Amino acid sequence: MRIGILALQGAFAEHKKMLENLGAECVELRQANDVIDLDGIVLPGGESTVQGKLLRELNMFDKIQKLIEQGLPTLATCAGLVLLADEIVNDDNVYFKTLPVSIKRNAYGRQLGSFDTVSDFKGIGEFDMKFIRAPYIVDAHGAEVLAEVDGHIVAVKYNNQLALSFHPELGEDNRIHKGFLQMVQKYSCQ
Ligand code: GLN
Repeated sequence: MRIGILALQGAFAEHKKMLENLGAECVELRQANDVIDLDGIVLPGGESTVQGKLLRELNMFDKIQKLIEQGLPTLATCAGLVLLADEIVNDDNVYFKTLPVSIKRNAYGRQLGSFDTVSDFKGIGEFDMKFIRAPYIVDAHGAEVLAEVDGHIVAVKYNNQLALSFHPELGEDNRIHKGFLQMVQKYSCQ
């Protein structure tokens, strides 16, 4: 299993470490030529505006968008969720638009910019969720809701896209990454 980790900006190293500890082969995606022979892709947290700009400048945007549209298993966290969403209610920019959800960027405001909370994650149970200037999902439309915090949707699944407002790669709990690798395995055996 070869997992591509978008490595233009943000918290990509932590995803890589977690997935490698689970036995996956990971490749950092820094230029268009790196986007080859992938069984899955990770879109990490960071700054979606910067990532979106670099994706376009480096001619990686269309290639990755097409792969996700075609069903490549995708794990997106925080800024990664912003990149996938087909509507951002407080921003005119949109990026891949492969995930039919409306999100709000920096949704928790300044005071509650970063926080941790334990909440239920469908199929997994209680999970310690770390939020950093996170978006939340205002409307999940056709996507399956996997987790909510204080009445706001913070995790969804749609086709092979798993998208989270929070950062599982920053903790010790690797159950979400394990679940993602199971998705990848299923997909690569098809
Ligand atoms: N606030 C960032 C954005 O909107 C996301 C923050 C994060 O990924 N931790 O792109």
